[in-house]
Amino acid sequence: MFITFEGIEGSGKSTQIKLLGENLTQRGHKVKIVREPGGTELGEKIRNIFLSSSEEKIDPFSEVMLLYASRKNLDVNVIRPNLQANNIVIADRYSDATIAYQSYGKGLDAQVIKDIHNFSSISTPNLTFFIDINENLSKQRISGREIDRMEKESLEFFSRVRTGYLEISRNNNRVHIIDGEKSIDQISIDILKIVEGAINASMG
Ligand code: ADP
Repeated sequence: MFITFEGIEGSGKSTQIKLLGENLTQRGHKVKIVREPGGTELGEKIRNIFLSSSEEKIDPFSEVMLLYASRKNLDVNVIRPNLQANNIVIADRYSDATIAYQSYGKGLDAQVIKDIHNFSSISTPNLTFFIDINENLSKQRISGREIDRMEKESLEFFSRVRTGYLEISRNNNRVHIIDGEKSIDQISIDILKIVEGAINASMG
């Protein structure tokens, strides 16, 4: 089973991934957690390039190519082998993020991203959780962090990304919208219920 978490910065992805990983491990599953971009030696190098501050405005198509170079390598080296071993793979962001950030956020034609996605023939998630918070709460929650290149974007940018995620969620049955303003414990219970339902369904 392949599960992805999506959402703007500070929505609670890392918090919930950690809890879901612990809950599933306790229930006897083998869990592999990966993050994007990154998760492989090459991917972590790309992550450094991707997130480091730059004087230059980085072209969104170039961003997409970097993300897909990392994603393909992650799929081949980590995601597929783990799925073949019947492990549960949980990813901190995946392909929906590229549509939300580089298309809705930065204006690149979504079809260009979809074409690159199709050419890359990578694994499709079974389940995706979009943890939804508004851009003001995002800003509050990440105010204590050292800010990376993507986190420097404006409130309007994160509002567009959020709109993108909401549309993606409406158009894809695999995506569950989670209200990120509920308590950490309540969200984790809701997510575990959906995951257990999907695991039971997949076992017939
Ligand atoms: P992300 O990985 O999406 O950037 P994090 O899991 O790192 O988000 O959470 C960002 C901050 O918000 C952390 O300080 C975390 O403890 C807090 N947080 C996460 N989920 C909630 C929640 N449901 N309610 C209140 N605070 C939360």
